[in-house]
Amino acid sequence: MDIKKFIDKKPYLISGPCSAESEDQLLNTAKSLKGKIDVFRAGVWKPRTKPNSFEGVGKESLFWLQKVKKETGLKVITEAATAKHVELCLNAGIDMLWIGARTTVNPFYVQEIAEALSGVDIPVFVKNPIHPDISLWIGALERLNNKGITKLSAIHRGFFTYESSAFRNEPKWEIPIELKRNLSDLPIICDPSHISGNKKLIQDISQTAMDLNMDGLMIETHLQPERALSDVHQQITPNDLEILLDNIIYRKQILEDQDLILKLTILRDNIDKIDADIVNELNSRKEFVEEIAELKLKHNVTIFQLERWFQILSSRQKQANEIGLDPKMIADIFELIHKYSILTQSKIMRKL
Ligand code: PEP
Ligand code: MN
Repeated sequence: MDIKKFIDKKPYLISGPCSAESEDQLLNTAKSLKGKIDVFRAGVWKPRTKPNSFEGVGKESLFWLQKVKKETGLKVITEAATAKHVELCLNAGIDMLWIGARTTVNPFYVQEIAEALSGVDIPVFVKNPIHPDISLWIGALERLNNKGITKLSAIHRGFFTYESSAFRNEPKWEIPIELKRNLSDLPIICDPSHISGNKKLIQDISQTAMDLNMDGLMIETHLQPERALSDVHQQITPNDLEILLDNIIYRKQILEDQDLILKLTILRDNIDKIDADIVNELNSRKEFVEEIAELKLKHNVTIFQLERWFQILSSRQKQANEIGLDPKMIADIFELIHKYSILTQSKIMRKL
């Protein structure tokens, strides 16, 4: 992909309310954020899960964003979900656009947006799709890039999960890391507001994002968060944003200290050895799995035996608990190991 750098500072900061609610709200919020942030955000059209909730003021609020731009000099960004939104935003001189999580999931909409943008190389930020499908995320970026949009960035806003979670959207940090591995020139902005759904977690999530070397943050701010018309629990005041930013610890990316380099090399060496052992042990485990499959084939027994799987899961979690390892981590790892055991066995039983 042809990605041009347009983010010139780190962390790149985008902030403003979830939704544009009134002209005064936008102007006053923007004035309190001026000097602290790089881009002012506000949702003009809001994709809401349920009908009859506040769905944004619509195109009228584009004029308020124009006014913010004129009076504060801040760059402005909003969400575009259709080709019509793109057209209205471009006519209103909106500087940048973001594509929301509910739009990234739909290749038809993304294609339509990309076509509406062709020939106008403004920065576009693509939020991750609601569910953890990295191909869909990359696909959306590619559709835009194919239409000549080169000032691209991704926004990590977490993923829907059926499991109980402290977060509104599970961060699943491994996914943005994998995105970076695929597209190393692509800046990634973290959106702790939509990940957390709860203002108490925003500081920690922002810190993790910076520790993972992400390029910036998008944080929702509201002058009176408790009176916000959308996302009421996850907005903070511009003043609290300032405190939050002051509390972030920025770590060095380049190691200069020779002593530290040596210590890290030794520790990493140990990890490399352990990882090599894990891979060898997994191979030994696979050999037993194959023997079991041969036996099951001979005696005509089903591959999957529920009680055995429950027993594996609970004994490994118990062991983890006893030695102070996170049992959830062990359960996740064994789910994967088990998935591949079943694949190995079914190959043998189908005589592949
Ligand atoms: C938003 O940023 O206000 C928004 C609707 O985000 P998402 O698409 O991540 O839900
Ligand atoms: Mn929001």
